[in-house]
Amino acid sequence: MRVAAFTVDVDRDVNLPAKGRTSALSKCHDGDREETRFGSSMRGLLLLIKMLEELEVEATFFFEGDTLLHISEGADVRKLLSGHEAACHGVCHEDITGESTGAPLTDQELSQMIDDGRDIVKKAFDRDPVGFRAPYQHIDERTLRLLQRRGFLYDSSMASVIDDEGGIRPWRVAGDLMELPLAQGKDARGKKIVSYLWPMHEGRRSPGDYAAMAGRVKSGVLVLATHSWHMVETYERGMMSESQINSNLDNLRKVLGDAKAQGWEFLQLKEIARKWKG
Ligand SMILES: [Zn+2]
Repeated sequence: MRVAAFTVDVDRDVNLPAKGRTSALSKCHDGDREETRFGSSMRGLLLLIKMLEELEVEATFFFEGDTLLHISEGADVRKLLSGHEAACHGVCHEDITGESTGAPLTDQELSQMIDDGRDIVKKAFDRDPVGFRAPYQHIDERTLRLLQRRGFLYDSSMASVIDDEGGIRPWRVAGDLMELPLAQGKDARGKKIVSYLWPMHEGRRSPGDYAAMAGRVKSGVLVLATHSWHMVETYERGMMSESQINSNLDNLRKVLGDAKAQGWEFLQLKEIARKWKG
């Protein structure tokens, strides 16, 4: 099996963990006063959907519950996301393990987060979500066991190193629950590269770096990931100008186009999880 997935975390704009707090903040730029913003995430989502339609790529969107509720106020998400998969990404971008906040979720908070997140996605799309990605990719055993008990099919929070034969494979993490990890490899200069496209949106990597990475994977599942807000805003420099947005989108189009040209077929993660199990 050699298949790819394009995945998008749809969460609050430029989310940041805050010490001692469960829910995430949005990074402030000049003049911002709000603790949390959702406008970039919404605008980025619309741009992404349009691009994916042009490229005929079906994607998986991991929705943070709170962000989904905000977006649903201004858009018909069910219509917008038809043909794509909607999965879960917490409720308020919780740092489950407390690695960045120093405040790990209690067992009760954790099950509440999983149930509430799933209910929000289910209500918005009238379909049971079967996938999960932990905010900040901070996942632990407790969460995996809970996901398995709740009937989820897969988690996609971890990263796995591409092996010497160019393989990257899903595995079972808790009972039947599959892990569909992000890929980690080395670039031409021997520097670590991960299939999360963050550095490209921040101007620190080129589409060619990811094409080279995809070319080195010979078998298994290649999971590419990004944020919807990262289509229009950067962590380092704030809001992009219109021309920056266009070249950022061109970069992403190139990553996906190059992968397709290399023969990668893009599927929703839930389809991949089902195929892999079968
Ligand atoms: Zn996130």
